[in-house]
Amino acid sequence: MLVGQTIGSPEKGEFQIERELGSGAMGTVYRATLTLKGKKLPVALKVVSLGLLGNESAMARFEREAAILKQLRHPHIVRLFGTGRFRGTPYIAMEYIDGEPLDRALARRGRMGWEEVLGYAKQLCLALRHAHEKGIIHRDLKPSNLMITKDGTLKLADFGIAKDEDVTALTGANSTIGTAAYMSPEQCRGSKVLTAKSDLYSLGVVLYELISGKKPFYADTSMDMFLKHVNDTPVRPSKLVADLPVWVDNLILHLMEKSPDARPLDAATVGQLMTVIEDKVRNQQSAGVDAATARRIDRKLNESAGMTDEDREAARALKGKKKKKKKVEAVPLLQQTWVKAVGLGVVLLGLVGVGVWLSLPKSPDQAFEAVAKAATSDDKLEAVKEFLKEYGGKDHPKVDEARALFKDLRTKKADQQLVNRYGSDNSKFNYRKPTEGENEETMNSIWAAMKAEKEGRLKEAAAAWIAARDAIPDMDPSRYADEDAVRVTAYRWTAERRLADLDAVTRESARLDTVLDKGYSEEALPAFDERVPESRALRAVRLQKVNDPAKASKVWADLAAATSAEPEQRRWHLLALRQKAATTPEKGKEDEAKANRLAVVTKIADTAAAKWAAVKGDEKLLVEWRDVRNACRDLIDLYADESDEAIRTRVDAARLLLTEAAAK
Ligand code: ADP
Ligand code: MG
Repeated sequence: MLVGQTIGSPEKGEFQIERELGSGAMGTVYRATLTLKGKKLPVALKVVSLGLLGNESAMARFEREAAILKQLRHPHIVRLFGTGRFRGTPYIAMEYIDGEPLDRALARRGRMGWEEVLGYAKQLCLALRHAHEKGIIHRDLKPSNLMITKDGTLKLADFGIAKDEDVTALTGANSTIGTAAYMSPEQCRGSKVLTAKSDLYSLGVVLYELISGKKPFYADTSMDMFLKHVNDTPVRPSKLVADLPVWVDNLILHLMEKSPDARPLDAATVGQLMTVIEDKVRNQQSAGVDAATARRIDRKLNESAGMTDEDREAARALKGKKKKKKKVEAVPLLQQTWVKAVGLGVVLLGLVGVGVWLSLPKSPDQAFEAVAKAATSDDKLEAVKEFLKEYGGKDHPKVDEARALFKDLRTKKADQQLVNRYGSDNSKFNYRKPTEGENEETMNSIWAAMKAEKEGRLKEAAAAWIAARDAIPDMDPSRYADEDAVRVTAYRWTAERRLADLDAVTRESARLDTVLDKGYSEEALPAFDERVPESRALRAVRLQKVNDPAKASKVWADLAAATSAEPEQRRWHLLALRQKAATTPEKGKEDEAKANRLAVVTKIADTAAAKWAAVKGDEKLLVEWRDVRNACRDLIDLYADESDEAIRTRVDAARLLLTEAAAK
């Protein structure tokens, strides 16, 4: 119905709507042309169904989320250009993809070969990795959100701009079934804190469906579907697809583990696993081909001397003669031998040429290409190691770059090895005796440092890391190719990096205080977004400020869990661990904390009400007005999720008071 219309404005961009591309749970997608400052750009315009975002708070959240998603820029992610409204109806403008969504390809083809599917999935893993590193979870991975362009490039669309509850509210139970088929068990349970692992589960379901042509679970209602995700075991894909390599089968089931902890570590790891699987299958196949070739050689040896038909064929090709039917025997023997000799000579010359060309020294710039091309961090590390073996002694800008990259990747690897060794966030923190050749004292310092971090004792952690760092001498970068030396030094680098993270905690925590002060004084507190670590941290700090440490401790614990797997977010992880340790109520005092909560809420509410009564007639007292509003916001932002009746009453009152005390 919008086709043919022009919406938007000349200043902010005009969209001329050309045709409908399809529709889904959230609304209809149109192909449109955006005209802005004389430039034209093809876009996909998703017009969101009214009702879905009918209320202002949902609308505000929608715009907030869009603002975050606009920052996602990746070759395998559909760009979000912006949002707008047309006669009150919100729309999203995104990159137009000239391609086909995978659900349509699947409907056409029934199912796809696993090789093709892994090709897409590896691209998807790059996209997910990028988003997850920014703390953004997709939430709605499914084939219809995976667009494939003509050249086989995958583009991931529709990052969770609508929360699950919005979609359910709009569409009712039935139309969520499509989406429910891909939801993780924790998502089905309505878990508030989804992690990247939720997307990994959905990825497993998508792979299952693309490869086998069947979904792992079928149900008539989304409720039944939820129950199946939580309780049922899917049929192994290999039962449905003959010749499916067992590794693919295992990977899919690994992704679909019920418990997030049991799934692979992260999207990058999944991408690497896929490359490993491809290599394994290829090796297996080439072993099979070798066997077949060997058989042919045996056969030839047993044949009588002289030319076989194949040899004659080759001779003809070299002479440029067309194959003549049954005239083969007529070619004179002499000529044949001559041709063979010349042919062999040409081939040999060619081989020598290729050999010479291959052994010509490449420039560091050329050789570095291999490093730049490596997709996963493991591949990159291998490539950069090879590069340094060859060029490590040279004085060249690429060598410096390679050294820096090597140090970075090798440090991450050492760090991960330590985490695996002593226990990740999700398992027990085990003490492991140092192995032979390791310095016992140093390894014990590292263990103590990691344990202290985990328990939120950051000062002690820093002291132990310093001890470990100082016990291991650094090495000259020209020796980076020497893996034996690097193995030890990499622990020093890890210690350095962890110390930098610990330093960053102090800075972050000071910065949070500034952001909060400014937020109150300018009445511009950023809205809460669980996908942004800073946002969670601000919420927790606010809860501490209003004197509700027990509630803050939950937020800190969630933040710690959400950031545990991401080295890039370690400063948030550490801050959360420290604060969690400081705020968690003692055992047996949880009830006390709950009673305290009502007291806290009541005090804020009463103080705000009393203050308002005193200043409400007087518009010269604007600062006091602002304090009243800020108090109301504390109640609304921090306690709207409470179920306690007495607390809810006060939150509702705060909403009223906030409107009343609004600046004129
Ligand atoms: P769903 O993803 O649930 O199918 P959507 O509303 O997201 O629903 O999309 C509906 C259809 O519009 C998709 O199946 C796809 O064919 C098309 N579409 C969505 N986004 C784009 C885009 N960025 N470029 C081109 N076509 C798109
Ligand atoms: Mg979609």
